[in-house]
Amino acid sequence: MARIPINIVTGGIKQDDIIIGIDLGTTNSLVAFMDKSTGLPRALADTEGYTIVPSILHHLPQGGWVVGNAAKGHLITEPQNTIYSVKRLLGRSYQDLDNHTFAYKIINDDTESLVKIQVGEKFYSPIELSAEILKELKSRAEHYLKTEVKKAVITVPAYFNDTQRQATRDAGKLAGLDVLRIVSEPTAAALAYDNDASKADGKNIAVYDLGGGTFDISILSLQNGIFEVLSTNGNTYLGGDDLDKALVNYWSELYHIQTENAYEFQELRLLAEEAKKQLSSNDSASFNYNIQNKNIALEITRQKFEELILPIIEKTIACCKNAVTDSHIKISDIAEVVMVGGSTRVPVVKQMVQKYYSSSKMMDSINPDEVVALGAAVQADILSGNRKDLLLIDVTPLSLGLETLGGLMDTLIPRNSKIPNRIGRQYTTSVDGQSGIIINVYQGERDLVEQNRKLGQVELKGIPPMPAGLPKVEVVFTLNADGILKVTASELRSGVKQEVEMTPQYGLTDAQVEQMLLDSFTHAKEDVDTRLLIEAQTSAKQLVYTTEVFLQKHGTFLNPEEITQTQNVIDELKNVYNNSDRNIIQQITEKLNETTAPFAHRVMDVAIAEAMKGKKL
Ligand code: ADP
Ligand code: MG
Repeated sequence: MARIPINIVTGGIKQDDIIIGIDLGTTNSLVAFMDKSTGLPRALADTEGYTIVPSILHHLPQGGWVVGNAAKGHLITEPQNTIYSVKRLLGRSYQDLDNHTFAYKIINDDTESLVKIQVGEKFYSPIELSAEILKELKSRAEHYLKTEVKKAVITVPAYFNDTQRQATRDAGKLAGLDVLRIVSEPTAAALAYDNDASKADGKNIAVYDLGGGTFDISILSLQNGIFEVLSTNGNTYLGGDDLDKALVNYWSELYHIQTENAYEFQELRLLAEEAKKQLSSNDSASFNYNIQNKNIALEITRQKFEELILPIIEKTIACCKNAVTDSHIKISDIAEVVMVGGSTRVPVVKQMVQKYYSSSKMMDSINPDEVVALGAAVQADILSGNRKDLLLIDVTPLSLGLETLGGLMDTLIPRNSKIPNRIGRQYTTSVDGQSGIIINVYQGERDLVEQNRKLGQVELKGIPPMPAGLPKVEVVFTLNADGILKVTASELRSGVKQEVEMTPQYGLTDAQVEQMLLDSFTHAKEDVDTRLLIEAQTSAKQLVYTTEVFLQKHGTFLNPEEITQTQNVIDELKNVYNNSDRNIIQQITEKLNETTAPFAHRVMDVAIAEAMKGKKL
């Protein structure tokens, strides 16, 4: 067990190392650092003075990416090669996306595995794409600070689950950053204001974050120098974009604008966004809009705009109410409400928020676009040992996890997590009728378990025979205050349960811990590549298996030609699934999916028809 500030042995942090703070946003990202000369955190700007980096990537014809403002224009000209909102895909499976559509191609290779994005002939994971944004921020920091930057604190939404947090860590790793801490966005924002935790102890804070496409409300409580999240609420599809849309709809109706043309429509949308921004400081806005050789003089007053967007803001207030209910504290016990996100610049948003939190002090003196990144920089400063007064908590120096398919490490408790800690995750079987499962527990930072340190195993026996995928195996890691890890595995359908205790760092010297960390940084790129390759191989094998089972069970619904065709693609996939080129494996996996998709529907239709037949009204 280690104490923060972490030293070289446990966390590899030297006193003079620079740690940057990063807000990896859905719409915009920023990087900040603690400016020693002023003692204040500062967001880093580009040569034109912009601190905001739009979270947009454009794939260049010759390969490689451009990120940020330079990529933005390509959203209209080359939508299939221009990726936005990648944060929505991070650590998510196709199932999680709820039929939401994007202008680029998302691969549905297997509903439970993580999504991939296809650009041209290549497949990219959201982790790789997020890494490109992080690289851009890293290089901005290096350019400004004139030194290599290797360490970062990255923020994520409070509701991010551990797969999404792990994906964020992986993205950092791939960008060449050692992610010392993942911090919740509301915590970072609160920290930017209240960084003298000793004075603020016992205080409850609401963080209202209205961004480009998302709304989050969190209620935090500051206890003994640690921010605890009491409740979160929000809407992942509500934000500044909706304010723009409301204005586009109003103008379209008022001026009889009808256009099928993507450029013209986009132009109108951008003018609406511009008008919205102007209305945050002016009483009215007007623009000339050229469409089909006509010129329309668009106008909007702040009063009219407020009327248009009122229902949207009311929705956010409804979420605020739910968050208060869930927090089990009284609204009058919320001392401060912190304003975060570009959309909180809209005056009527502020008014309605203040009206709702009538007894809380509104915290809006820090730039709402930057406040999360600035708070991340404060957290980075604490980690680098400059703020000994703050947030002293016990942390675990190496990650703890278990072995999953293909010998990959699945981290449950990441290093630098606070102790005590408890985390559970569900797994299932990959083969029909599997009656036992061995859970191998490892400690370390590498992506392949064979390069980590095995701590022990838990064997779950006597699971009743079930088809693959049906058993629900829950594994819970409990790390107590003494650093003892208890691993509990239970199959939830049958109630079979097993528990084993292990001591994580037993026998490891400080130098060995340090070496394990150093190795993980040296091999970061190769590790992530290996992980992505093994994941592609595993899902290809899984698909071959399920398709073969499908043919056996439901072959009668297919004609001989279809069976041969399917069998051919299965063979094709079998030929490549041990290949070392991830893109080829993914291409054929996709092909097999496309081949069998219509059959699955047919079988389902027949099953429904059968079921209907049996029903008597
Ligand atoms: P995210 O956290 O989703 O990455 P941001 O916090 O950067 O997003 O917020 C982006 C949103 O803020 C956009 O919808 C943008 O139009 C809006 N915005 C930026 N400046 C202003 C302003 N002056 N007035 C109103 N809205 C603004
Ligand atoms: Mg944000």
